Amino acid sequence: MAERWRSGVALLLSAVILLAMLFVGPGNELAALRRVLGIGQDPLGTPADVPPGGVYAFLQTQPDDDEAPVAWSPCREIRYEINPDGAPGSDDDAEALVEDAIAEVSDLTGLRFTYGGRTDRRPSWESDFVPAGRKEPVLVAWADSGEVEELEGDVAGVGGAVAVSSGPDGWMRYVTGQVTLDEDAYADLEDDDDDEGARAILLHELGHLVGLDHVESPAELMFADYLGQGDFSTGDRNGLVRLGQGRC
Ligand SMILES: [Zn+2]
Repeated sequence: MAERWRSGVALLLSAVILLAMLFVGPGNELAALRRVLGIGQDPLGTPADVPPGGVYAFLQTQPDDDEAPVAWSPCREIRYEINPDGAPGSDDDAEALVEDAIAEVSDLTGLRFTYGGRTDRRPSWESDFVPAGRKEPVLVAWADSGEVEELEGDVAGVGGAVAVSSGPDGWMRYVTGQVTLDEDAYADLEDDDDDEGARAILLHELGHLVGLDHVESPAELMFADYLGQGDFSTGDRNGLVRLGQGRC
């Protein structure tokens, strides 16, 4: 009887030690195991260290906390695909433009993006900032306003993501998204050799993809109109850092 009691205690102790290792243990192997088991997840990257200042706004905040933005889980890779059909230049040029802009958003937010390759999927939107679909990878594509009505007028692009509530905490997280760039606007930018403008407009739409809203300040790239800002400014960068600190 005492023998059985002792082995029971030993078993229980081993289980406690194993659990403790899983939760607090160091090392990549344990982090990988925690991910597989879905416990104590770790962010895949670290947001940039940026000087404070400027202004930013979020597209959505949590239903029970209007200070907390809806964001992507920093513990999961964001898969994306590119449909270069309609982009100016070669398919390789389109791919290089997108990968370069995504790398900047990834550096600022700490969010990890994985390129899944070219696709012939077409963009589809439910409304401004809210693309259609739930489970597909993020789609970056070019279209005209005949196909995507959100591009009507002088709109050079649209971007946004789909938020769903998951888990017992009811927390909202983005699960997929799209960026659709206006074919005609990009043809004009190509004619003007305006590589900076092409990149900046894409960055603005990627800002929406990860959760940034427009701001009133024309100094920020998230101002509603493109005024030649060139790149994310101070407020944009601070907003992106916040959006990289969502719940896993
Ligand atoms: Zn916008």
